[in-house]
Amino acid sequence: MKNIIINNIKYFILIIVLYSFNIISDEISPKDTEIWTPIPKIIDVDTIWKPSSDSVILFDGNNLNQWEHNDSSKPKWIIENNSMIVNPGTGNLYTKKAFTDIQFHIEWKTPIQISGDGQNRGNSGIFFQNRYELQILDSFNNVTYSNGQAASIYKQHIPLVNASKMPGEWQSYDVIFIAPKFDSEGNLTKRAEMTVFHNGILVQNKSIILGSTVYKGLPEYKSHPAKEPIMIQDHSNKIAFRNIWLREL
Ligand code: MG
Repeated sequence: MKNIIINNIKYFILIIVLYSFNIISDEISPKDTEIWTPIPKIIDVDTIWKPSSDSVILFDGNNLNQWEHNDSSKPKWIIENNSMIVNPGTGNLYTKKAFTDIQFHIEWKTPIQISGDGQNRGNSGIFFQNRYELQILDSFNNVTYSNGQAASIYKQHIPLVNASKMPGEWQSYDVIFIAPKFDSEGNLTKRAEMTVFHNGILVQNKSIILGSTVYKGLPEYKSHPAKEPIMIQDHSNKIAFRNIWLREL
């Protein structure tokens, strides 16, 4: 027994010696695994709540110039206290610009006065490329189907945890949305993917999107342009939004 221990110690020492003389590492030097280019671009950042210098600002509290309704008419939503609020019944809002892969930030707040339950309480949603919904809902003490609660990818992916705050409190989504890819014949070659942080907490980890997020039926992909607008849903609840920006990837 004593001999076995001594032999093991000798072997361990030998390994260390060999490594230190670079004998069994196949002569790979640390330099061989260093990658020096490209050098990541240096950008200015403020806090996690503020857009970086290379962001596209979609709403900074002042106007709705970046938005329109489906028929290209001017937004009928309301600006109040530097936030934009759903004006129920006036319709969804769409970005005038179209986007593909993005890092996206938005802050949102459901009404402090609770009305309705389940899907009728504080419902809205961010539809990336006008098709793939990240659900907005008051999910604070509000039971509904798990794949339809806040931070779900609607009817496709349940959030990893429920990080919801109380109604009337500001919440945030930080999203990495990777758009689907189609070949020249319109065949799907790569499905879309979404990573989401809800109030700073990871809730969707590279979730693979199965197709358009539909209320009824099963998701499926239909070919669409590489760049499409982002849509925010009017689901008849007065959801407030602020600090909306993105970075094109
Ligand atoms: Mg919704």
